[in-house]
Amino acid sequence: MTLLATAISDVLEDLKRRRDIDPLAGLLNHRGFDAKAADILTDWKSASISAVVFDIDHFKNINDTFGHHVGDKVPPEMAHIVSCTLRGSGIAGRTGGEEFVVLLRNSNRYSAFELAERLRATLESKTFHCLSGRQVTASFGIAVRRGEEPLSMLLARADELLYTAKSQGQNRTCGDHPLN
Ligand code: GH3
Ligand code: MG
Ligand code: MG
Repeated sequence: MTLLATAISDVLEDLKRRRDIDPLAGLLNHRGFDAKAADILTDWKSASISAVVFDIDHFKNINDTFGHHVGDKVPPEMAHIVSCTLRGSGIAGRTGGEEFVVLLRNSNRYSAFELAERLRATLESKTFHCLSGRQVTASFGIAVRRGEEPLSMLLARADELLYTAKSQGQNRTCGDHPLN
């Protein structure tokens, strides 16, 4: 009986993992990210939470040039960089094909900017042999939570700054403060 209960519990755990994790990149998917983010926002009510959203630059051109199957290798690499850099200071999700989001605990505009720039510089310096050595870059938008601001609003502000980073020439981080 105990064995059966353990087996059922393992199956349920596995199902939950598959439901919340993106198989290509190994980060949280949209659903998993929203659920974990809700927990963080409940636990950390102050403005010490920041969102970093980012998007790979010229990804369509990468696909067009090297093929979709080669392009598929880029998001997992980005996910790997994020996991190694984040090391438990927040949560990370792949919320779209080539779109990612990080929610940082216990952060401010300086630490959020620093994290985004570290991610950006690491990706930029990576050699992609599968892309004949072509450089891959990403653009970043960061926003610090204002008071009890809901997740959707925080992410919308970060998204707007990501759009600014794209329109200013890509491969850069934009925040809502003169810091950058
Ligand atoms: P920008 O620099 O402005 O971000 O342009 P972009 O080309 O990166 O963005 P756009 O939205 O024009 O195109 C994104 C492309 O990424 C289209 C879509 O087919 C492709 N894509 C999304 N997810 C994946 C994926 O997992 N694998 C591959 N190979 N392609 C993907
Ligand atoms: Mg995109
Ligand atoms: Mg893109």
